[in-house]
Amino acid sequence: MVDVLVILDGASEACDAPKPTLEEARTPALDALRASGSYDWIALLPPEVPVGSETAIAALLGWIPDGPVDRGAVEAAARGMLLAPGEHAWRVDVGSRPHRHKLVIVANEEPRIGGEVPVHIWPQGAIPPKILDESTVVIGAVGAATGLGGLMGAKVVIPPGATGRPDSDLSAKRVAAEAAIADGVSHVVVHVGGPDEASHDRDRAAKIATIEAADRELIGPLYEAVAAAGGSLKVCPDHGCDPATGMHVAGPVPTVTWSATMVPR
Ligand SMILES: [Zn+2]
Repeated sequence: MVDVLVILDGASEACDAPKPTLEEARTPALDALRASGSYDWIALLPPEVPVGSETAIAALLGWIPDGPVDRGAVEAAARGMLLAPGEHAWRVDVGSRPHRHKLVIVANEEPRIGGEVPVHIWPQGAIPPKILDESTVVIGAVGAATGLGGLMGAKVVIPPGATGRPDSDLSAKRVAAEAAIADGVSHVVVHVGGPDEASHDRDRAAKIATIEAADRELIGPLYEAVAAAGGSLKVCPDHGCDPATGMHVAGPVPTVTWSATMVPR
């Protein structure tokens, strides 16, 4: 029986936010799942762990970190980069939104980058353990989810057109997920990065649009495929991200779970 997890990256806000984008967005498929399934707020990370996709998606994949996770190693894995002994991969952001460039730099020590533009070097951290195998398929763009999937031992699928941005081709992710379900895979994870990116860009309308697109192009069709396979479907953010501040939000995330074997209420 297949279980499918759709991660709407950064899609929630604080649990007491007055007008959450997930409630404001028109999401008939998610509403139907919530009506016939279960709905809850869950804490994915211990309070001392930094809130980011590299920590929260690791938790969703089955490993709860106790501190920072090495984003450089995650990004290198997402790009299929192999590191020699002693080498380290660093995620380096150069410039600021919307003209930010993400670099992955392999070096023996932390790179030193000077100049006029702002530079953010992500801290080192734990490398996630290899606790998965190819019975788990992780589908997404080049980034945290697919890098974590690769490091943790899952099969990774990066469909053409998957960008991790609001313009990502969600239908291509749906096709990849349906193929994995048809192959008899046990666990299918589909990552949608658009809500987080729109939140960081402080673009509330784009955030709502990406949530609505995910509902229409991914969650609705996947519900049909999961129901036909007798499986279960869970939809949740990895963490919140506030489109007013552009910052991640710590704390629990809203989770909708539906299973073909649930007794209807
Ligand atoms: Zn983010």
